[in-house]
Amino acid sequence: MSLPIVVIGGGLSGLYAAHLLEQAGQRVLLIEARERLGGRILSLGHADDRHRLDLGPSWFWPAMNPLVAGLVSTLGLDAFAQHIQGATAIEGPDGQVHRQQVTWQQSPASYRVAGGMQRLIEGLRARLEGKVHILTGTRVVGLKLRPHAVELDLQDASGAWTQQAAQVVLTIPPRLTVQDLCMEPAWPLPLVQQMRDTPSWMAGQAKFVAVYPRAFWREAGWSGTAMSHRGPLAEIHDASDASGESAALFGFVGATPAYRTGIGQDSLTRQALAQLQRIFGEQAGSPLWTAVQDWAEEPLTAAASDRQPLARHPLYDAGTVPQAWSHHLWLAGTERSANAGGYLEGALESAALAVQELLAQRSQVPGTNASEHERTLP
Ligand SMILES: Cc1cc2nc3c(=O)[nH]c(=O)nc-3n(C[C@H](O)[C@H](O)[C@H](O)COP(=O)(O)OP(=O)(O)OC[C@H]3O[C@@H](n4cnc5c(N)ncnc54)[C@H](O)[C@@H]3O)c2cc1C
Repeated sequence: MSLPIVVIGGGLSGLYAAHLLEQAGQRVLLIEARERLGGRILSLGHADDRHRLDLGPSWFWPAMNPLVAGLVSTLGLDAFAQHIQGATAIEGPDGQVHRQQVTWQQSPASYRVAGGMQRLIEGLRARLEGKVHILTGTRVVGLKLRPHAVELDLQDASGAWTQQAAQVVLTIPPRLTVQDLCMEPAWPLPLVQQMRDTPSWMAGQAKFVAVYPRAFWREAGWSGTAMSHRGPLAEIHDASDASGESAALFGFVGATPAYRTGIGQDSLTRQALAQLQRIFGEQAGSPLWTAVQDWAEEPLTAAASDRQPLARHPLYDAGTVPQAWSHHLWLAGTERSANAGGYLEGALESAALAVQELLAQRSQVPGTNASEHERTLP
């Protein structure tokens, strides 16, 4: 049997690449290090799966994100506008709360996916069911360029093994690629340094969510949007479901990763609830459920250097691989998108571009036989 195309990384980019390759009639194996799929996309429900809270991305912007909007529609998902109606709260460094009666306008408007952004991952996975072999809990630790294939060094619960690939689509962030993968032959130092200097978008961030019996802030005329110069939450938004009946708030934690690690999640939760009480009143101190997701603590998302704050949105580009690898390895993942790098749109755009280029070259790449160390795939 011919060697598969291997997609490395089961985030949005990897799943979309696998979907496009499968649709083009290719034999695909997807390898993901975590036990779950989704990467930076993570939606958790406290009671049931109808309303899940996004602890990674919450928003897409249909006016700017045609690929995400298209995928939402193709997968038959419902989307709804972020709730912004009502007064905005501004918290000063002294904890004083100022009420801005004007609704905080968004341009373009941001939308959420009903049931959480995880629906994109579940929808893609369902489309791959029985067509693409997916290995979770399997970490790629090295890539060796062979005459007509790439040999992947893998690590899973049962030990180390290898897998041959005709071609590879690599969707893990550039920083993790050069930190965690051993390349043979080694990649030139300037390229390695460039990848090391490419921040993984939002990897140093943390999110806090609190679920409530009612959206009491709306009843008091607040939108749920708040900006704080005191913290620990720097920016707060309504995270209720489309109807507003299942009520929640979320906040981006403004405190640094070092501070967060220092105080721990219980303390951070207490501080966040105290802040929500200062802003929205007593009831904010009695949530039904809270969660903190600290992405800086996730080694499969953040490198140590991602713990440093970013001054601005990085400039991303498609990236290149050394010439010798160019018929065997394509780079994708949101950090490889020049137009929408960092965003969900960039994850899809980079995957589409990589697959397009791979398919264009595929007919020129001769196949090889499976190695004796390779496990048999179904
Ligand atoms: C808190 C937060 C809020 C965000 N908000 C938004 C938003 O509102 N809108 C928006 O558009 N974007 C937002 N983003 C960005 C968005 O989440 C990303 O652009 C997108 O999810 C990236 O997808 P990806 O597949 O490129 O990368 P990832 O999701 O990082 O996927 C990479 C995958 O590779 C796996 N992996 C890593 N190393 C290995 C290895 N050695 N072997 C095998 N697998 C490996 C990882 O486990 C992961 O599953 C946010 C991100 C965060 C963290």
